[in-house]
Amino acid sequence: MNLARFPRIRLAHLPTPLEPLPRLSEYLGGPEIWIKRDDCTGLSTGGNKTRKLEFLMAEAQAQGADIVITQGATQSNHARQTAAAAARLGMGCHILLENRTGSNDANYRGSGNVFLDHLHGATTEERPGDGRDMNAEMEPVAERFRSEGRTPYVIPGGGSNATGALGYVNCAYELMGQSQDMGLVFDHFVTATGSAGTQAGLIVGLKAINAGLPLLGIGVRAPREKQEANVFALAEKTAEKLGVPGVVAREDVVANTDYVGAGYGIPREDTLAAIDLFARCEGILLDPVYSGKGAAGLIDLVRKGHFKSGERIVFLHTGGSAALFGYTSYWAK
Ligand SMILES: *Cc1c(COP(=O)(O)O)cnc(C)c1O
Repeated sequence: MNLARFPRIRLAHLPTPLEPLPRLSEYLGGPEIWIKRDDCTGLSTGGNKTRKLEFLMAEAQAQGADIVITQGATQSNHARQTAAAAARLGMGCHILLENRTGSNDANYRGSGNVFLDHLHGATTEERPGDGRDMNAEMEPVAERFRSEGRTPYVIPGGGSNATGALGYVNCAYELMGQSQDMGLVFDHFVTATGSAGTQAGLIVGLKAINAGLPLLGIGVRAPREKQEANVFALAEKTAEKLGVPGVVAREDVVANTDYVGAGYGIPREDTLAAIDLFARCEGILLDPVYSGKGAAGLIDLVRKGHFKSGERIVFLHTGGSAALFGYTSYWAK
């Protein structure tokens, strides 16, 4: 389980800070809440995909790739961080953007992450949000680049395969190191969960070092059964790759999908309220697709007494603030 055995290119500012949220904790009146600042990974406004890209881009370079191809929703943070990583390494980047929300809002379609994709020099093409298999959609595109003499490396949506998930094994080790250095015991770890790589990597890392820290994923898209199955499948592959097969049990993978609302990329009232609360109470920017829903879940579970006074919680801030500029219409009331 030595991560140093895997090729890695340093792209992230690590370790990310681990900070208390005293005003939010006091306002909610329950447990002591801390935040792990993976919004501060440093690459093009930061976010969780940068940790995954450290391992994915290293694999791309080891395979001699000169262009990476990936896919995501229109306001994909993964697409933006991939475009920035490719720029930094002098590689091409081509992105398939799926209009998963069906939105025609000008900011949604052109500002925020989309604007940054193009600023980093990535090329993009669109796909309708009709439920097609977007990972499969990249294959003919890769073939097109091969026929032009390029060497593409295809990164799945969200960078979520066993290679990308190693970035979150690393985050689990980093968090436990920080908590030991600071003499802090956490009772619960909460993160937004989407394409599964973050939660899968974290649970593998936590279990591999027997951290004794339960992890809760707050879903942003799939129903609970499907989300947990996706995370568990990827955790098994990641554990195998890391050399600790079977270290994660099915019951270690827990997702709460009560905060998804109408669907992926569509914020609920409590998503917007969580964003407002973090912004005003702690000066921290969340996002409307992932961390805002994750925080809405955290807040609601504190209010319901699921997380209690006397407990200490750490919330993983997975980033995404660039997407706020694609969602300004939600605040224009
Ligand atoms: C992608 C993303 C997530 C979810 O991570 P997965 O590894 O896809 O589950 C959470 N927050 C933000 C801001 C993201 O961009």
